[in-house]
Amino acid sequence: MAADDEGVMLSAIDHYAYCPRRCALIHVEQVWDENVFTLQGAALHERADEGFTTFEAGKRIERALPLWSEELGLIGKADTVEFLADGSVRPVEYKRGARAARAQDDLQLCAQALCLEEMLGVPVTTGAIFYHASRRTREVVFDDKLRAATREAIAQVRDLLRTGRIPPPVNDARCRDCSLLHACQPQALAAAAGLDEDELFTPPSDEEMEE
Ligand code: SF4
Repeated sequence: MAADDEGVMLSAIDHYAYCPRRCALIHVEQVWDENVFTLQGAALHERADEGFTTFEAGKRIERALPLWSEELGLIGKADTVEFLADGSVRPVEYKRGARAARAQDDLQLCAQALCLEEMLGVPVTTGAIFYHASRRTREVVFDDKLRAATREAIAQVRDLLRTGRIPPPVNDARCRDCSLLHACQPQALAAAAGLDEDELFTPPSDEEMEE
């Protein structure tokens, strides 16, 4: 990590994959606002954030484990990391909502795996996301495609933070659930700038990530 580089927060990858403007508003402009979804997420992470160790069914579970990667310039923490009896390690994230394949969840989890591999010197091949509303878990395989997409997302986030650029609003269905809707004013800004939908940023869809 360069001396003048403070590192990319793992959470910024999630924010960027959801909407680059949201990432910039939070991590460049330091804007934050709550809505029902962020409050649900905060409540869900309360236990994981306490940072303690438990033992269940032959595995050690570390909560709120600090993570970093010197190579990729990443810092943050994992909700939980499981250390299994066979020596394997896997990160497990807790998300609100029902079980669903969401690109931003997979990118953030894979970034955690890249940190763990560097920190522990062991391969981390799979992880999991636990969806609170449906009480179901989705396994995530850290294959070459997901690893490449994650490295690309990290590079894009770093570029965004270095330039301090605030991308245009996506102004689509994502805005409805975004806690920054009022601070961002996506419809007003898009109208004022005369942007049509083709000019607004659209990240890869979850289906494209699955291909
Ligand atoms: S309101 Fe829409 S454009 Fe603005 S930050 Fe949220 S998702 Fe992005």
